[in-house]
Amino acid sequence: MAKKIFAANWKLNKTPEEAREFVINLKNETFKIEGFFDKCEVILFPSAFSLEAVSTLCAGTAIGFGPQNIYSQNSGAFTGENSAEVAKSLRSEFILIGHSERREIFKEADADLNKKHLLTQQLGLTSVFCIGENLEQREAGKTLEVCLAQLEKGLQGANKSERLIVAYEPVWAIGTGKVATVEQVAEVHQKLHDELVSKGYASVQLLYGGSVKPDNAAELLKINYVDGFLIGGAALKVESFLQICNKA
Ligand code: PGA
Repeated sequence: MAKKIFAANWKLNKTPEEAREFVINLKNETFKIEGFFDKCEVILFPSAFSLEAVSTLCAGTAIGFGPQNIYSQNSGAFTGENSAEVAKSLRSEFILIGHSERREIFKEADADLNKKHLLTQQLGLTSVFCIGENLEQREAGKTLEVCLAQLEKGLQGANKSERLIVAYEPVWAIGTGKVATVEQVAEVHQKLHDELVSKGYASVQLLYGGSVKPDNAAELLKINYVDGFLIGGAALKVESFLQICNKA
């Protein structure tokens, strides 16, 4: 059985000290669970200031990590931005791209996200590329159209033979406690899978995100083409994060 992926999006939470405490605790707890990393792939997305702390503690472990955002250029006169190359020098293997909070609050457009994805690939890193419809789009019956358009524009020109992780996160389910139904997730994941396979992507894994909690994780993980989760609120504490991982 393929490993399930459990990605923690800490957003703008946790000091470096709190991030360290989380990783130490996670290492201790997972050490006690036999075969944990045979079943689960863990990826942590700390905020930029905590990346180095996470990197230091994850060295030599199976725990992956990376930044929640990067700028579309590696260096130069871009005050206030964060560099993918620097994230790589801190041993990041993953970059979260296009989270709906980036798209909505920071007005990141598909073209920006496409540049970030291409840069990530050039550096040999793996994107966790987020897509998802908002409530208005869902109610207008445009979910699949919106998700496919975000994929099409965001992945334009990408290398299809590299590993890619896509996170489907319906915006209305993020941080709201309103999880998408099994039918809703199944419909979108099936469509995304078919589309990406037909476009020739060799290695795509699909995550669901949006109010994933220990009590809904098991049924969501059973859905075809749900290869894991992108988890916000429930990934802030090792206990609830591991309760979710242990459903794999
Ligand atoms: P949530 O966040 O699990 O708190 O809904 C998910 C996300 O924003 O990635």
